[in-house]
Amino acid sequence: MPRAMLWLIFLLGLLGAHASAQDRPNIIYIFADDHARRAISAYDPELIATPNIDRLAHEGMLFTRSYCANSICGPSRATVLTGQHSHINGFTGNGSEFDPKRTTFPRLLHDSGYQTAIIGKWHLGSTPQGFDHWEILPGQGSYFNPDFDTADGRVRHEGYCTDIITDLSINWLEKARNEGRPFLLMTQHKAPHRNWMSAPRHHRLLADTDIPEPPTLLDDYAGRTRWLSRNAQSIDGDMAWQHDMKLPGENPYPEVFKGWNNAEWGRMTPAQLAAWHEAFDTENEAFMRALGSGAMSDRDRLAWMYQRYMKEYLRCVVAVDENVGRLLDYLDRTGLAENTIVVYSSDQGFYLGEHGWFDKRWMFEESLFMPLLVRWPGVVPPGSVCEALVQNIDHAPTLLDAAGVAVPAEMQGVSLLPLLRAGHGPERWRDAIYYAYYMYPSVHHVPIHSGVRTDRYKLIWFPQTREWQLFDLESDPHEMRSVHDDPAYAHVLDEMKSRYLALRDLYDVDDQPIIDAVLEAAGK
Ligand code: CA
Repeated sequence: MPRAMLWLIFLLGLLGAHASAQDRPNIIYIFADDHARRAISAYDPELIATPNIDRLAHEGMLFTRSYCANSICGPSRATVLTGQHSHINGFTGNGSEFDPKRTTFPRLLHDSGYQTAIIGKWHLGSTPQGFDHWEILPGQGSYFNPDFDTADGRVRHEGYCTDIITDLSINWLEKARNEGRPFLLMTQHKAPHRNWMSAPRHHRLLADTDIPEPPTLLDDYAGRTRWLSRNAQSIDGDMAWQHDMKLPGENPYPEVFKGWNNAEWGRMTPAQLAAWHEAFDTENEAFMRALGSGAMSDRDRLAWMYQRYMKEYLRCVVAVDENVGRLLDYLDRTGLAENTIVVYSSDQGFYLGEHGWFDKRWMFEESLFMPLLVRWPGVVPPGSVCEALVQNIDHAPTLLDAAGVAVPAEMQGVSLLPLLRAGHGPERWRDAIYYAYYMYPSVHHVPIHSGVRTDRYKLIWFPQTREWQLFDLESDPHEMRSVHDDPAYAHVLDEMKSRYLALRDLYDVDDQPIIDAVLEAAGK
């Protein structure tokens, strides 16, 4: 072949490679912490308006059956990165150390030419790998004047955490982005994680609103495993005077309130602290007077605690929503929106008073659910709703697939790209998801459990007491009665047990050593 022809082929190849690099979509993965389904108005408008997060649903796809594989912070994050269940990726509970050698989707994107960054909550112990840039909160991080760990050491930024994580994200897009390469930016908020500290501009938001109580707030846990009543995440009995209820001074009622201090007050500037006192002192004094008078019933005290908890939680959500808006506006202003996939999700859901609880961990719907909204202009039909059963094991394969990177066989999830392109679930899709939680006893005494959820039923196995629980989500959406011993459900129980075993087989679950180690450490 003549030399000139070879050169021509080489140059055409270069042009082609260049064009495909530019065509590959940018990805912004916005990850909240403990964001419940009911606190996103695209899912449920009753509690709060989240117009900016809702934009992603209006302009993209809303997943209505999106679940986590293990409802706790670190494990969900490890699953998102690896596309693997906890028993495979090794990060089974908070306190594990993420193995930096593991294959993750950011590392694969980076190796394929993406510029990668993670800003905000990491919570996986080891130093982030596969990222060109990282600024991460140490551990759980702080709401006020948060510290960030970077490759150059620890830096403190003055302000409110949710705003700062967005400032740093926009700053990276503005100043550090290489325009010749597609990018992955993971913007990961601390909010609305406990202890739900609102931004000064939101301290009085909802102050005059009565937040509706969920129908299961006074759940007596009858008809289900006794683990529920031994659980320690109830609003009534497990919230702390300062840390959760934001009440001043020493806890005078140790029989009702836990005694943890509120470390955020100690981080505030004098101006932030003054604003806080101005917003909360009158309300706090009125509550403490009523409580001290002895005239306040237990039910009234619970009602007050629920309102205090929910208002602070929802105020944190509003700040997240405003900051999603800031990021979307930036994409619009710079023209990046067109070729950027924006994902909004949270590591798991949260109890907003359902079953009398806060926190997560259980396989019940409120904490099993992960919000998932995906906008990809020109690919995902606007306003589409997908009811297929999807899980956080699918996030890594999906984003690799979208970037044209081969999904490694070790990833256990599947790409959601066919669903995203079609605008709905395909005819044939998985009909069940697998779940496992190992972090016992931790602070909330939630037992080790695993299970399977199908479209209609949920089966849960508690190895410590060797008992099954079965829920019919159609007739009992709030999961208030286990029908495992109801003869009318005998065939369903058998069928669900087979599915459970089949999924354990599919995902190579051999978790007895994990369970043994957890129980040995717990001294049980
Ligand atoms: Ca979380």
